[in-house]
Amino acid sequence: ELNNNIVADRTFKTEQSKPIPKPCVKFEHAFHNFPEILDEIKQAGFEKPSPIQSQAWPVLLSGEDLIGIAQTGTGKTLAFLLPALIHIDGQLKPREERDGPKVLVMAPTRELALQIDKEVKKYHYKGIKAVCLYGGGNRREQVKVVTEGVDIIIATPGRLNDLVAAGHVNLESLTYAVLDEADRMLDMGFEPQIRKIMYSINPSRQTIMTSATWPHGVRKLAESYMEDPVQVYVGSLDL
Ligand code: ADP
Ligand code: MG
Repeated sequence: ELNNNIVADRTFKTEQSKPIPKPCVKFEHAFHNFPEILDEIKQAGFEKPSPIQSQAWPVLLSGEDLIGIAQTGTGKTLAFLLPALIHIDGQLKPREERDGPKVLVMAPTRELALQIDKEVKKYHYKGIKAVCLYGGGNRREQVKVVTEGVDIIIATPGRLNDLVAAGHVNLESLTYAVLDEADRMLDMGFEPQIRKIMYSINPSRQTIMTSATWPHGVRKLAESYMEDPVQVYVGSLDL
């Protein structure tokens, strides 16, 4: 049974826009090839995808850009995180051959960045390694972990820019970039840092944005950095 509180559309529709992939109603529909992920979801005791997940997963697994607009507590973290793991899996080489981080998740605050990091670390998936970079954290330790090799970077924009400028983090290998709570990041004045970072990432990347609201500034960011994104609104907080 589909949740009819989801609305999906193309933000900047063109003649070339493809149809939007259909929402999935069961975890198995999205992750049938990924038993480790299904096991972890079962462990968590979840019954079915939340509305945002049901639409986000098919879109993201087909490699498209996505804007997810939904209130806090609607399951946005796993909406972008599980496809990120699968995205990395497709490119995963033995650790000694890995050529740098593939996934970047930017979040407005250290608390949010740490929450995302905690969620990633529940999915001990094929040796995928994550680091969390935030102001006030031990900079030397963060640099050490990055230097040893990571697949996912979760970061606040200020600390990330600082480490990029100092030459400790290289963004060239990234192919999947998430701006989590984009509206809050703009409210906090992170637009220059976000623009610097996004400008440095290969434009053929997959780009994801989440936001609770859809103000002009967020639309501008989407226009600058996304490729025919699918926009998903969730009208209710029901999981
Ligand atoms: P958001 O980022 O939208 O604020 P979160 O991703 O932090 O929301 O998720 C909120 C809570 O819902 C978390 O505790 C998470 O574990 C839980 N959750 C995520 N997906 C599901 C699901 N499909 N069913 C039930 N609970 C879920
Ligand atoms: Mg969130």
